[in-house]
Amino acid sequence: MKLIIYWFRNDLRLEDNPAFLQACADADHLLPIAIKTASYQATTKWGFERVSSHRQKFENESLLDLKTDLQRLGSDLLVVNGEPSNVFAKFAAVFKDLEVYCQQIEAPEEKEEILKIKKEGISVHEFWQSSMLDPSSLPFALDAMPDVFTHFRKEIEASKLRFASPRRMPGKIPPLPTNPPLEKCTINDLSLRASQFFKGGSQYAKLHVDQYFERSLPDTYKQTRNQLEGMDFSSKFSPWLATGCISARSIAQRINAYEEVYGANEGTYWLWFEMLWRDYFEFLAFKYGTRLFHGNGLTQKKSNSFDSVQFDQWRTGQTKSPFVNAGMTELAETGFLSNRMRQIVASYWVYDMHGDWQAGAAWFESQLIDYDVYSNQGNWLYIAGKGTDPRGGRPFNVLKQQEMYDPNGRYRARWLKNA
Ligand code: FAD
Repeated sequence: MKLIIYWFRNDLRLEDNPAFLQACADADHLLPIAIKTASYQATTKWGFERVSSHRQKFENESLLDLKTDLQRLGSDLLVVNGEPSNVFAKFAAVFKDLEVYCQQIEAPEEKEEILKIKKEGISVHEFWQSSMLDPSSLPFALDAMPDVFTHFRKEIEASKLRFASPRRMPGKIPPLPTNPPLEKCTINDLSLRASQFFKGGSQYAKLHVDQYFERSLPDTYKQTRNQLEGMDFSSKFSPWLATGCISARSIAQRINAYEEVYGANEGTYWLWFEMLWRDYFEFLAFKYGTRLFHGNGLTQKKSNSFDSVQFDQWRTGQTKSPFVNAGMTELAETGFLSNRMRQIVASYWVYDMHGDWQAGAAWFESQLIDYDVYSNQGNWLYIAGKGTDPRGGRPFNVLKQQEMYDPNGRYRARWLKNA
């Protein structure tokens, strides 16, 4: 009897989940599992919680939704606390013919988790499935991918590369094993505060994406995407993409289907273009690996030093710039921030306050409900001039940005009590 444990990582969905489909095809018994590792309770070296309540709430909602989907198909989701290697070792002691299937994540901590499981003598099958484009179909080898995004994009556009069609959810799931040797942990405290806009789970991802296309919002995307406020100025797909409640290929398919009916336009192109940034940062992780996680990044330039007083001013929204303070307040209160505001507050931290970009990235990791290891690391490196930006960094003139994007102070008034 072959037991496969399917370990849900950042792929909390059944639809277009090729790894899960393969597990269903190969298993006699299948146990779907999600693990809350110690990092959920950890404090960073900069002195704040590694995973904020916003992120925990969104993820818990997503897990509950996934559990319901699995139960509908006669299976279930076991959610446990612990380190993955310890969790699987307990199973391996009881089930001799055990294999683990999961999504591949090309980031240092996640790779370390897999190594530790393998050291327990357990075989692990990883599947790459988080990008829109299949890395093996790219017109270049990953280790030779163009560093500059524009070159990367042009090569992809010239090759007319298409994404593979999303896969359907399994019709049937192999039965659960009897007596799994672990206690369930409860998926707790769903009443935490978080952004009013977002609710985790595949069903909410679908509802959100449906309404976005039904209301023809791609048509105005290019004009509105740099705004700061409201639900409609950008797609807001990111929290569901980051947790894998929906796949990037499903979004790409929706863009294509929309274009077939209503015609392609600047907005649909730009939406795809931004999704391509997401892929670009994922693929850079294959090329550069752990170098993306060093203070110097891909350069010889040292990071700014860390000053805890300054850092607390920045993260709690008490800097000299009310505009930046408004952004930091929005982030702390909701777990979300527009792309424009992310760029502005990150630039302010690195270039105006001369702060350590890694501390800034860690604060975003803690707060963002769309936290994604590749996009967060990639964008911070880009802003700080430690990554692949041919301009060597992106300092923003914050006053100028304020005049352009918040000329009448409405955004500041919304988030600052004394504005
Ligand atoms: P839209 O503008 O509607 O774009 C559609 C999709 O394209 C997004 O959902 C996202 O998947 C992708 N996308 C758009 N812009 C980018 C970008 N610059 N880089 C990579 N993908 C992009 N995005 C995350 O998903 N997780 C992060 O942890 C994250 N950290 C960031 C940190 C900094 C300092 C900066 C400047 C940007 C960061 N971003 C991150 C990228 C971007 O800000 C968000 O993806 C975007 O704001 C999400 O809102 P949206 O879904 O409405 O995006």
